[in-house]
Amino acid sequence: MPENKKMWLVTFAVFGLLVFEILASMISHSVALLSDAAHVGTDLLAAIITLYAQKIAMRPSTDSMSFGYSRGTVVSAFVNGVTLILLSLIVLFETVQRFFSPVSIQPSWMLTAAIVSFIVNFFIVISLFSGGKNLNIRSALLHFAGDAVVSLGVILSAIGISITHQEWLDPAISLLLVSIMMVTSYRIVRESLLILMEGTPPSVNIDQIIQALLSIKGILAVHDVHIWGVSDAEFAASFHLLVAPETKVVETDRILEKIEALLLDKFSIVHVSVQFECEVNPLHTGFPHRKMG
Ligand SMILES: [Zn+2]
Ligand SMILES: [Zn+2]
Repeated sequence: MPENKKMWLVTFAVFGLLVFEILASMISHSVALLSDAAHVGTDLLAAIITLYAQKIAMRPSTDSMSFGYSRGTVVSAFVNGVTLILLSLIVLFETVQRFFSPVSIQPSWMLTAAIVSFIVNFFIVISLFSGGKNLNIRSALLHFAGDAVVSLGVILSAIGISITHQEWLDPAISLLLVSIMMVTSYRIVRESLLILMEGTPPSVNIDQIIQALLSIKGILAVHDVHIWGVSDAEFAASFHLLVAPETKVVETDRILEKIEALLLDKFSIVHVSVQFECEVNPLHTGFPHRKMG
């Protein structure tokens, strides 16, 4: 089955699960189910946004969108993460309230919904398992495997409640689910924000790159180095190089070829802009080089 079709199928399965879990959490009064439903809801949103962003990311670059559309996936991840945090806060509020004013819940409905959720997640994992080595599919697989484990936790607490009648087990498991959701969403927001703020990708070491550049014959000094992610997989770099005044333009071309090969091979940098200089310019420290107005 093609990857895209598979993702759509998963999306429909998750939608069915969401509707069922919302109904079940209303009937059973379980906040654990509510937080699971909130999580499933954001999964659905994430899947839809990702499918759309991936489609947009394929568009070629134009004069007005010179970097293309690949950063659309980063924007979608950011929106996703923020939504996830807001939703977690709402569920957290409900959960904490439940500790102080307990509500009698129906463990049978809680159990049924958790079993359905486990089965759906289990089959999603099985169907994604044949998806090969694509990074998106693999991270989706890991995610739904985690969700299956969560459903297992809800199943156990539903059984626990029906045997012991300890109803605090419900908000307790809910608290655990919300905490996991918050940690995940915090990471998504932090990683996507770094790219949106043009931060240096965590996998890139600027000092290492400068040392590698200085090892190329003809380069005397490197300054004003910027390395940023256009998306989470494509990096770009720009910097100034000091060369001897007698260097010919044709020689800078040879240097440039070496730089492009080096940066692509060792640092996955796909887009390089270099400014050759033969004199040190004191204005070229930090950003910006010149103030406006
Ligand atoms: Zn999930
Ligand atoms: Zn400079």
